[in-house]
Amino acid sequence: MIKLLSSCVISARRAGQICRDVLSSGKLGVVDKSEGGLDPQTEADRKAQRCIVSTIADRFPGLTVYGEETLEPSEEEDRLLVVTGEDQDILKEPCPQEFIDLQEKDIIVWVDPLDGTKEYTEGFIEHVTVLIGIAVRGEPVAGVIHRPFSKRSDGEFGQTYWVLKGLGSRGLEPRQTAPPQNTDDMSVVFTRSHYTELVRRTVAALNPRREIRVGGCGHKTMMVVAGDVDAYVFPSDGTKKWDTCAVDAFVRANGGLLTDVNGKTLDYGSWENWRNKMGLVVTMGKETHQAILDRIPADVKEELASKL
Ligand code: AMP
Ligand code: MG
Ligand code: MG
Repeated sequence: MIKLLSSCVISARRAGQICRDVLSSGKLGVVDKSEGGLDPQTEADRKAQRCIVSTIADRFPGLTVYGEETLEPSEEEDRLLVVTGEDQDILKEPCPQEFIDLQEKDIIVWVDPLDGTKEYTEGFIEHVTVLIGIAVRGEPVAGVIHRPFSKRSDGEFGQTYWVLKGLGSRGLEPRQTAPPQNTDDMSVVFTRSHYTELVRRTVAALNPRREIRVGGCGHKTMMVVAGDVDAYVFPSDGTKKWDTCAVDAFVRANGGLLTDVNGKTLDYGSWENWRNKMGLVVTMGKETHQAILDRIPADVKEELASKL
């Protein structure tokens, strides 16, 4: 597990470099993945995924890795993008007992090589994250989040956080105070690019003190974990398991909750339920969470359930 996490960290950093390089080259190579709407994929999404998946496959050939992007097989390109080396700081950490005799068949890695692509193409680069989540028998137990466009204290770009159940998270200062229990007193973050009628009705019902709209599942969830906002609510179909696996591991390890609009936690143990069709609610407190679940209109929940 420690070695797998090390591979995830070094490949996430390189993926971040790819995001910066593609942007500065000006050749984004945008392709629309959706039928209808707009779901862009860029050269950075493609190359970053190849880099992460081939780096993990190079060390753990039997492991199941699900990436967001559907790519043409290219062994040569994959080989060129394999990152070598280790993250020495992670290798110094003790492996928690629970993961010592872990078998590859119990693990699934979910990869979102670039979360917030729409924002990336529109210049909101601080909303972009690289997300790698590790699930063991369906439970999100570890993850890496990399912010390619965030400046570190040494002046270089690229901030990396990682988490492992039993060790906690690194690189991130989690929320210290209890969040409010009444939705009228909350600051809540919502989607910038997928603001549907269901979202609008939910915002009206929650009546939050402050409504913020930014891009990216990774970016929004990290705002909740850090305590910059009290909740992230997305009462809509649209996010996928690769959007939530890594961040769910951070939320759980820091005492928070990530559920659907009915309060059900998510399972990452198979490809079958790859879409989070019943939406998302993310908070750092049980009462806060319940207050939001109670205020999401019943007809919004029913409409989501009717499309399962
Ligand atoms: P957002 O909060 O709008 O930035 O979305 C968070 C993540 O979910 C991003 O990876 C989006 O691409 C994805 N997502 C959300 N809604 C949709 C949708 N309607 N179609 C495609 N992807 C979506
Ligand atoms: Mg995403
Ligand atoms: Mg993505």
